[in-house]
Amino acid sequence: MAGCFLGVLACAGIYRAVQTPSAPTAARPFEQKLPAPKLQARADAGSYWHDAEVQSGDTLQLILARLGMDAKSVQAFEQQSPIDLKALQLRAGQIVSVRVNEKQEVSDVQFFNDDDGERNLIALEYRNGKWQLHTGAVDTETLPSLRSVVITTSASGALAKAGVPIEIRTALKEMFADKFDWNSLQAGDSIRVLYESLYFRGQEVATGNVLAAEVSTQGATYYAYYYEHGDAGGNFYDETGNALQKGFAGQPIEHYTRISSPYGIRIHPVLKTVRMHTGIDYAAPQGTKVLAPSDGVVRFRGWKGGYGNAVILAHGNGLETLYGHLSAFISGVEEGTSVQAGDVIGLVGSTGRSTGPHLHYEVRIDGQHVNPATIALPTPVLSAQDLATLQGRQRQIQQLMQSVRGLPVPVSQKN
Ligand SMILES: [Zn+2]
Repeated sequence: MAGCFLGVLACAGIYRAVQTPSAPTAARPFEQKLPAPKLQARADAGSYWHDAEVQSGDTLQLILARLGMDAKSVQAFEQQSPIDLKALQLRAGQIVSVRVNEKQEVSDVQFFNDDDGERNLIALEYRNGKWQLHTGAVDTETLPSLRSVVITTSASGALAKAGVPIEIRTALKEMFADKFDWNSLQAGDSIRVLYESLYFRGQEVATGNVLAAEVSTQGATYYAYYYEHGDAGGNFYDETGNALQKGFAGQPIEHYTRISSPYGIRIHPVLKTVRMHTGIDYAAPQGTKVLAPSDGVVRFRGWKGGYGNAVILAHGNGLETLYGHLSAFISGVEEGTSVQAGDVIGLVGSTGRSTGPHLHYEVRIDGQHVNPATIALPTPVLSAQDLATLQGRQRQIQQLMQSVRGLPVPVSQKN
């Protein structure tokens, strides 16, 4: 996912301004080279995609019915579905993309399904009178998305209206937490955010990291730039290279062999799967101590599906950390007990869906997955060389941000 970061400027040339119907007219002219329109395949003529937001308690069937699918068709979908609909784990706020064909029939449904430690892209299609798994090429691309909003009522509302996904809204709120209270943002304040989007068949299906953000409020402007340190992930720094957040006091595992799987999206070209790893995997020998990286309260201790033996700690303000695949728990570390940074909370194992001893370390804020490195690991201080690299990128990003400053429209390379 980090690969596109260096391509930001190259990608910038293909941005186009998108005027939302309700947005006021831009105060000043905005010129940008537009890409040549892609020719649509004949088979797609007359079809369109619709994004539905999952409500609390939703099922796929309810969503389809809400989009106007008749009861008989919903029943056929339920009967023919190649996936177990009862086992789906949809999160409130996530997007389900639905394609409607020229006959006003739902022809495609695609979304990410939560699956204990990973999220998998599920693409269903109605072909030859039957629902089946999408069998075509894994047509994905990762592109940076830039959104610029001026707040009219609330920050979260303005971002949601501009189409900024819930994961990005959650990350934004968190990254500036040590600088100002996100809920104190008010009418007239502005937010610009650049983040990675994963597109599948032209639809934004998932988001990666926030690459940069800028918030102007009451005469002050706050900047955040993402800098990746390698497989362990990255952190946010301000315009002078200072970390935006302290992060946690320690790591969940002191001595590990290697990071066997970083956080983020993986596309398997042969298996044709698109998978989002929702945590960081630390490979370590069976029995290695797992430590609380920060003070917290044990919220869960027990078996948790694909996670196997798991412990969940709550750290306040909606922040929770999960430790999966443990071989053993520690007596005294029970639900409701407090732990301090450095306390042993379990031992590394390979329980649940796992191919070898490792710790799956996952972080959620208000139920949304976030990159553990940005908030729940110690934040590294930048070396002089890191700082020089970061400042080079800052200049590129600043030019891009400048081009949409004050423009009351979301700007993206895709609608
Ligand atoms: Zn994992």
